[in-house]
Formats: sequence, structure tokens, C-alpha cells
Amino acid sequence: MKTASEISRLRSLVARHARDLEGASAETVIRWARETFGARLCATSSMGDVVIAHQASQFAPGLDVLFLDTGYHFPETLALRNLVASSFDVNVVDVRPERSVEKQRELWGRDLFDTDPDRCCRLRKVLPLRQALAGYDAWITGIRRADSPQRAQTPVLSWDEVNQVVKVAPLATWTSPMVGAYLEDHTLPSNRLTELGYTSIGCQPCTSLPTGADLRSGRWPGLQKTECGLHAS
Ligand code: SF4
Repeated sequence: MKTASEISRLRSLVARHARDLEGASAETVIRWARETFGARLCATSSMGDVVIAHQASQFAPGLDVLFLDTGYHFPETLALRNLVASSFDVNVVDVRPERSVEKQRELWGRDLFDTDPDRCCRLRKVLPLRQALAGYDAWITGIRRADSPQRAQTPVLSWDEVNQVVKVAPLATWTSPMVGAYLEDHTLPSNRLTELGYTSIGCQPCTSLPTGADLRSGRWPGLQKTECGLHAS
């Protein structure tokens, strides 16, 4: 757990640099984060695409890339995770929930993702990430303003009150064509589900093809829920 003075120092870093980094390139933002936080920096990737993992390998080689291994991922997502771990200069760290899928079923019923998806996300994503982030001062996330209306105001640099870390979003201003061009320009692999038309890829039971213009409209289809809670702050 961070002390009050550590939190104060991190908060003042955000206050000092947020405006300057708002218009900076992803490379500048990631290099700044690496220089500022050193080994206390990590990234997260859901392996929907490899942009953040690849940029980390280029601008912050050896960086820890946290992968939330919920136990419910598509095989295509796990295949991409393995490819990144074996071929990129990053350290992929699997972050797992306290309980296995089987244990969760015993405790909460077979399909918690249907009966109470908020609880399922909390147990399998939100709490494990919070625990993992306690070991860092800052995390890089690949979220983008174009993902959904809920993410339209995402700052490049902010203070994550829930997880008590600096949050860095170098791709905040990127559009989907920019992501596609980056993957093509660097000849990078894709999650094969994108070739089938998926525009946002999460856990298998809660992900379908998009149902509207919103890139995340295929997540939790039929429910009001649009976020797993990782970006609540
Ligand atoms: Fe559970 Fe679905 Fe959330 Fe994954 S996305 S943690 S399966 S509710």
C-alpha cells in the first residue's frame, strides 16, 4: 500500500504533465512514462490487438504487460497472448482471479456472467487488477476515446483514484483506422476474431459481433452494461 506522501508525489506528477502530454505522440508518452516510473511502470493488454504490447516493446523494452487471465477468453485471444509473450520484448504477466472458474461455479452458480455479470467482472477482472497494480506506480492502458461514448473524455494522463496509480492512455486519441494502419505498417499479427468482424474482444461468454455503430456494442449484448469496471475512475 502506498503512503500518503507517495500518493501526493504521483498526483502532482499528473498535475504537472497532463496538459503537455495531451497532444503528444504515443511514443513520446510511453517514453516519458518509462523514464519517469522505471520498473514501477506496467501496461495492460486484453490482447484484442497488439498495439500497446508492440509499442511497449519498442519504447519501453522489457516492460511488464499484465494480461487478465479470466479463464473465459477465446482461444484466439490466448493464442495472441502466447505469440506476444514469445516474440515481443515485453514480460507478459498473467493476472488471475483468486478462484478458478470451477470454484466460482461452486460458489456462485454455473453462469455468474449471466446472472450477475457485474459481480463476475469484479471477481475476475477488477479485484485481480487492483491487487496487481498495487505493485506499480503507473499503468499504461490501450483504451481509446473512439471505443465508446463512455470513453470519449479519456485523458492521456490521469490519476486512477480506484487503483491509486497514475493511468497513462497513449492511444486515447487514436481512431480504428489508425490502429489498422499501425498493425499493417509494422506487419503485426491480429486477433483472428477481428477478421470475423469483432470490433471489441473480451471474455467469450460476454462478447458477440457488434450490434450497432459503437465499437463496444457487442460486449454484454442485451444488457445495459458496457464496461467491466476497470476504467471506473
Ligand atoms: Fe465474467 Fe463476462 Fe466479466 Fe468476463 S466479461 S469477467 S465472463 S462477466
